[in-house]
Amino acid sequence: MATTASETRPLAALPLLKGQKALVTGANSGIGKATAIGLGRVGADVVVNYVAGKEAAEDVVREIQSFGVRAYAHEADVSQEDQVVAMIARVVEEFGTIDIMVANAGLQRDASVTDMTLAQWHKVLDVNLTGQFLCAREAAKEFMRRGVVPEVSCAAGKIICMSSVHQIIPWAGHVNYAASKGGVLMMMQTLAQELAPHRIRVNAVAPGAIRTPINRSAWDTPEAEEALLRLIPYRRVGDPEDIANAVAVLASDFMDYVVGSTLYVDGGMTLFPGFATGG
Ligand code: NAD
Repeated sequence: MATTASETRPLAALPLLKGQKALVTGANSGIGKATAIGLGRVGADVVVNYVAGKEAAEDVVREIQSFGVRAYAHEADVSQEDQVVAMIARVVEEFGTIDIMVANAGLQRDASVTDMTLAQWHKVLDVNLTGQFLCAREAAKEFMRRGVVPEVSCAAGKIICMSSVHQIIPWAGHVNYAASKGGVLMMMQTLAQELAPHRIRVNAVAPGAIRTPINRSAWDTPEAEEALLRLIPYRRVGDPEDIANAVAVLASDFMDYVVGSTLYVDGGMTLFPGFATGG
């Protein structure tokens, strides 16, 4: 039966990440918010990064604290090197170290290629790709300094890059975004290869269509949603919690041998749905 209703269950309060320290970028909205809350629910202390919208970030912090773990909000633009360096220095100061970096912050500045300004191109690459590079680099330094603490995790650290199905699906009218996510794929794999000997696991989660502010126009009318569902074999738009659950499990030691992988969380969007009825 086709349904668009939200069916996602948050992970039960298993202590999957108990004692681990996590930072989620862009965590006052959408996927980042659900992920920060999800990591807190399963036992992690969490830094809620935001670039604008302090109130929303403080709300997320309070929700995480209600699980009995620590959390604070930190304002930083992930595309600015000095701000990312300061953000990681602070988490080490406040929490002692960091175990999980979720490089989630991202945005779109859509235009047809002939209308796309260089500023739109740079903005998306700066936040979606350079921002993830800076966050991964600074987290890796701390992971390598500290090494493995077996009672906390099998790994010295985990980096999870928030990618997109558009790391492999071309997307007309969004060349800056698709290029940024294609870049995330190769950045993630290269970092995974380089950092694995240090027992640092680098992986990506690639969401399909998730109901968040970034893509509101794709699902906020019945017509738009019906058109979107034609691209989703599982016939429902995803919820931010679908991604939060995947991130929490991927960051946990249950996934200790998963290195350099992309976990597609997309209801089958990458299965060439146009071929389901022929081709
Ligand atoms: P969203 O707009 O709700 O959240 C994006 C977050 O990133 C916001 O908190 C925003 O403030 C933050 N951000 C933007 N620029 C920033 C900067 N310079 N520094 C720090 N934070 C910044 O959208 P979302 O859907 O939750 O997107 C989160 C991630 O998921 C993005 O990387 C996006 O590309 C990816 N994604 C989303 C979908 C989807 O369907 N929603 C699909 C695939 C991938």
